[in-house]
Amino acid sequence: MYKFFVEDNQINNDKIVINNDDYNHIANVLRMKKGDTILITNKNSKETFNCEIEEVKSNEIVCNILNKENKKVELEVKIDLYQGLPKADKMEYIIQKSVELGVNKIVPVNMKYCIAKIKDEEKKNIRWNKISEVAAKQCKRNIIPKIDKSINMDTLYNEIKKYDLVIVAYENEENITLKTALRESAKIKNIAVVVGPEGGFSLEEVDKLRENGAKIVSLGNRILRTETAPIALLSMLVYEYEL
Ligand code: SAH
Repeated sequence: MYKFFVEDNQINNDKIVINNDDYNHIANVLRMKKGDTILITNKNSKETFNCEIEEVKSNEIVCNILNKENKKVELEVKIDLYQGLPKADKMEYIIQKSVELGVNKIVPVNMKYCIAKIKDEEKKNIRWNKISEVAAKQCKRNIIPKIDKSINMDTLYNEIKKYDLVIVAYENEENITLKTALRESAKIKNIAVVVGPEGGFSLEEVDKLRENGAKIVSLGNRILRTETAPIALLSMLVYEYEL
């Protein structure tokens, strides 16, 4: 079943009105008609409803709420990904796959060995958030993970202090594995995961992350590409916390 997101003001008692970009998608691309069913999530309350299309008008679609959908889709542990800024198309891949794997939010980070520099960040950020929204609809998430504006390392050192657990995937870590780090951690509600760019982390960056409470871990004996590492790491966390 197709899933769409709406704002509070599109919901009125047992009816939901779709009059934005999704109108075109539902009416003209999917050619849905009266009686067809869709899933609709309220962006604010994150509640999801099974709905039936009541009428496809020339500029809006009116849906009837049939019932509330209680299927669990979100991970119990919130995982935020801090990703060393990779080259452009890789970031898009990382966003799409991370959203499928349940990430809560993604923050691009400028690191010492980043090869890429973001040009026209305003535009890119809008595009990245759109990619997140499309992926969230496709995999039927109850939230649209936010893609933040990029931050620098000094901000990151501060930011990680608010998490129950901070995992840094480090290509040169030989002793501590992700498994060990997770076994050492008591019950947690949120995790920050940090992945380096194509050029990896500098020694100083790893030291400072450690000083600020991060656990530095290995994801295995092979070097993964910067776009593989977050996907592998998130899959491992889904295995740990959901399966
Ligand atoms: N240029 C570096 C590799 C960078 S890989 C080199 O040649 O050594 C990009 C990022 O993916 C790394 O910074 C790290 O965050 C993650 N990564 C890749 N392989 C990893 C592994 N085996 N264990 C932990 N993290 C890894």
